Formats: sequence, C-alpha cells, structure tokens
Amino acid sequence: MKYKRILLKLSGEALAGADKHGISPEQLIQYTQDIKAALDKGVEIAIVIGGGNIFRGIQAEKSGVDRVQGDYMGMLATLINAMALQSALENQGIQTRLMSGLQINQVCEPFIRRKAVRHLEKGRVVIFGAGIGNPYFTTDSTASLRAVEIEADVVLKGTRVDGVYTADPEKDPEAQKFNNISFAEVYKRGLNVMDMTAFTLCKENGLPIIVFDMNKKGNLERLVTGEDIGTLISD
Ligand code: UDP
Repeated sequence: MKYKRILLKLSGEALAGADKHGISPEQLIQYTQDIKAALDKGVEIAIVIGGGNIFRGIQAEKSGVDRVQGDYMGMLATLINAMALQSALENQGIQTRLMSGLQINQVCEPFIRRKAVRHLEKGRVVIFGAGIGNPYFTTDSTASLRAVEIEADVVLKGTRVDGVYTADPEKDPEAQKFNNISFAEVYKRGLNVMDMTAFTLCKENGLPIIVFDMNKKGNLERLVTGEDIGTLISD
C-alpha cells in the first residue's frame, strides 16, 4: 500500500451533487463506496468534510449575521454533513467515529488527538466535524492541521476537478494540468490549491497534498494503491 494513513478532504459543495445545495443521496453513496474500497485495501482513513453546501461564514454578513457567528454556523454545517457521511458509512458496515472541534456531546466525541489515532489504528474511519472549532478558519485548514496532528502520510483533496491547472479549467479551455508541482511553484504562480493558512501548514510540515477528482468513481482506491492520478504537491 502506498500510504498507511490518509486524510481525505471532501468539500461540502461536492456533496450537493447536481443540486448545488443540500446533500445528494447519490453523491453520498458514491463517496461511501469509494471510501469502503480504499479501507478494504488496508489504509487508515480520516476525513474532513466541508460545509459549503449548507453555509459559509463569509456569506453571513449579507444576512445581517456577523462573521464570527457565521463561522460557527458554518462549523455546524460541516457537522451536519459529517453526520450524514457517518450514517452512510455505517450503512455499508464500516466502523466510524465522529470527532468534533466544538463540544456537542450528545452527538459526537470531542477531538482528542490520542483517541483519534487509536480509532484509526483499530480500523475505524474517523470523521472530523465542526472544523478546528475556531472562526476565521476553513475546513481546508482543518484538514491540514488534523493531518499533521495524526501524522497522516498525505492530504487527499477530493474536488470536482482532476488536479491543479495553470488556470481554472472550468473557465479557461487553454488551462494545462500539472501532474507534479512543488509548494514553492504553487506560491510563485499564485495557484489556488487551498487557502494560504492550510497550504502553509502542509508546506512547513512537509506534508504532501494530492488534488484529485473525487466525483469519479474508483479514484480514491486508485490513489491509495499507488496510481498517479490528480496533481501531487510536495517539496
Ligand atoms: N469554519 C470555521 N472554522 C473552521 C472550519 C470551518 O469557521 O475551523 C466555517 C467557515 O465559515 C467556513 C464554513 O465553516 O466557511 C464551512 O467550511 P468550508 O467553507 O471550508 O467548506 P467547503 O468549502 O469545503 O465546503
């Protein structure tokens, strides 16, 4: 197996599927089948899921809600997605634990690093909900931070695009895909891989990132078994 332990970042927006809002049952099923296939290969899997399909803090001010309140709303949105993902995984017979950055004890465990690592060692899929638990962060920063904390080998950023391009491939037909790129080159070209907080944390800790298309069935399994798909960002 190429990796012993991975941190999979799923965007909330992708979970909405074609509807662009809410949770698409088809998308959820595809994700859980892909996660199961990767887990069956023997890799330890931790997941951070975003909340953009429900609420983003940055939207809040438009509704007369201040940014910090909005960010907490966003964190709760990630927890809703995380709960849906947890149930869907359990429906496939997978053991899971949901660990939250905010204390919501009736619903999930608080994040405790040692416990998270123990769950992973026992073969449970660990989902980190409610972000880091602090406003002004994103679920990308959560993914980087948790990945460093649990000593994951790689952050797999699942998106609806199959890698990092010279420009946005959904807007520019001339855009070229990178198979490999260094952290320094991403900075230099100002490419949008993750927000800077998240990206810097990976760079400073030598934690590689792979951006790949999670909406294509089987891609996660291909990655954990060592196929070169997506874009690898490393030193
Ligand atoms: N958020 C936050 N702190 C965190 C993680 C998330 O404040 O540690 C909030 C923030 O408002 C963010 C929202 O939760 O906009 C949803 O997460 P994100 O936008 O990262 O979701 P994605 O784009 O991956 O769907």
